[in-house]
Amino acid sequence: MTQLKLPLPLHGAANPSSTDAGTTPGSFAHAPAVGAALTFSSPDTPGMPAPSGKTAWDFLPEGWRREGAFAVAPEGFEPVTQLEHARLGNVTPEMKRVAAKEKHLTAEQVRDEVAAGRMIIPANKVHLAGKLDPMAIGRASLTKINANMGASPVSSGTSDELEKLEWATRWGADTVMDLSTGGDLDATRQSIIDNATVPIGTVPIYSMIIGKKIEELSLQDILDTLKHQAEQGVDYFTIHAGVLMEHLQFVKDRLIGIVSRGGSLLAKWMIHHDAQNPMYTDFEAICDVMREYDVSFSLGDGLRPGGLADATDHAQIAELQTLGELTERAWRKGVQVMVEGPGHVPFDQIEYNMKAQRTLCHGAPFYVLGPLVTDVFPGYDHITSCIGATAAAYHGASMLCYVTPKEHLGLPKKDDVKQGCIAYKIAAHSADVALGIPGARDWDDDLTRARAALNWEKHFELSFDADTARAFHDEDLDVDTDFCAMCGHDWCSVRISKEIVQFASGKAEGFEREKVLKSPALTPEQRQILEQRGHLSPEEIHRLATKTQKALGAEGDKASCHSDLVPADDAKRIQQEKLVQIGRRQARS
Ligand code: SF4
Repeated sequence: MTQLKLPLPLHGAANPSSTDAGTTPGSFAHAPAVGAALTFSSPDTPGMPAPSGKTAWDFLPEGWRREGAFAVAPEGFEPVTQLEHARLGNVTPEMKRVAAKEKHLTAEQVRDEVAAGRMIIPANKVHLAGKLDPMAIGRASLTKINANMGASPVSSGTSDELEKLEWATRWGADTVMDLSTGGDLDATRQSIIDNATVPIGTVPIYSMIIGKKIEELSLQDILDTLKHQAEQGVDYFTIHAGVLMEHLQFVKDRLIGIVSRGGSLLAKWMIHHDAQNPMYTDFEAICDVMREYDVSFSLGDGLRPGGLADATDHAQIAELQTLGELTERAWRKGVQVMVEGPGHVPFDQIEYNMKAQRTLCHGAPFYVLGPLVTDVFPGYDHITSCIGATAAAYHGASMLCYVTPKEHLGLPKKDDVKQGCIAYKIAAHSADVALGIPGARDWDDDLTRARAALNWEKHFELSFDADTARAFHDEDLDVDTDFCAMCGHDWCSVRISKEIVQFASGKAEGFEREKVLKSPALTPEQRQILEQRGHLSPEEIHRLATKTQKALGAEGDKASCHSDLVPADDAKRIQQEKLVQIGRRQARS
């Protein structure tokens, strides 16, 4: 046996596949024990802040006390929020639904994570009575993605936004934020909530200043708007209560100042009035409105960096510290909390950012935008940011806010929404696999099996975007062969490997084909995908494919070179003669 000069990777986590199949010995992530600060987490690089020793249990409301595993509320108290139910030991229908979706968690584990403040179930009572299908955001659950949409004063309308909502959920968005700043904001928001099965978030300050200047904003305007949107059924609010007067002095050293709309508006309000942020000073009044409907906080990062040069600076970390204090205050009011994070962050600073939040905000879920790891690829920021998002999810984020190719350039259209969602599903899933979330890698393993068997139908079926996968395959070769157009028959390493390892190609259970399949003709949607690529016209694709079929002698039948043609007995005999003997010879030498 060959002696390895280096050890295989640490067995820090269980194999993230739910079966014993696969060859990966384990990952570097911490063991996947649910129920503590290090649940599904990366090992700390030296110098990282340690997890907080506190949880939401340390910030019970006035008059509450711990008794055993749960808490006791004052006489006559009626729980409303998921956090209050969890503290009292109740397993709600929403927690059961979350456990049904997160197959590695029980409803009791969901309850305990919610009680600790490490997980939220954003589910406004009004939306719950409508179409909402509850989900959870937290480190113990799978990594989630959010898609932003919303009309702007120069583009789009309610029907366009509804189409984007449908498109975003089709492509895997776990939550959607309506960030409309134009058109009929109220009607658009109501239509989105009425049609959404996923939680809907908003940044209510946008509606607070419609028809008035930010300087005119009053506490009553804030509370009235929040109440109205809560009544409509919004599941989480971005509240920029962490931007304080004393933070503004640190912005002057930045290259691009304040890039958050909410942050810049509130900074203007504070400078104009020479007064503290009213969302900070009257935070408890805001909590009261939100508690009534169980609207969750998404504590906004109004001072997030807008470029790499401004990342992890004094302003950003000072605000994060305040967000930690606000987390404690919200928990004391029984309101669920997640915290928003940057933005634009060099790759090497991402882990610190995630672990600083874990410390300062006591494990409350972190919801990050990207982060973008470089600033110089406008038009491709779904890629620059999904690289950062993968690292963020591995090191501590629970939800990733997508970035589309239109970021910094214009309002995303339908296809931009799809591209953003797919980039972020890649980031979230990659992190879940690396973190060792049980069962996360099963899908990858299934696709690898189909790929190894050169089972194209299964390969397409398991692809996240089956239409695109099939269209790309069929662009050059719309016949089922034991290779594809990338390398061709003689150079197809998968075919050769299959012949070496399992000569009885295609004869494994589930992969057997009575006769070779000719891939069905492209659907109109697949045709459109290829047309948009602009490489080949549909006629050219057809001509090329037809030519290939003829060349392979595969017109309506099996390609003559397909290794399915080898009889099973011959395959076994060849395996015995060749592979087993090679193994024996090597063992002897
Ligand atoms: S031809 Fe090349 S790319 Fe295609 S299946 Fe074989 S090895 Fe993979």
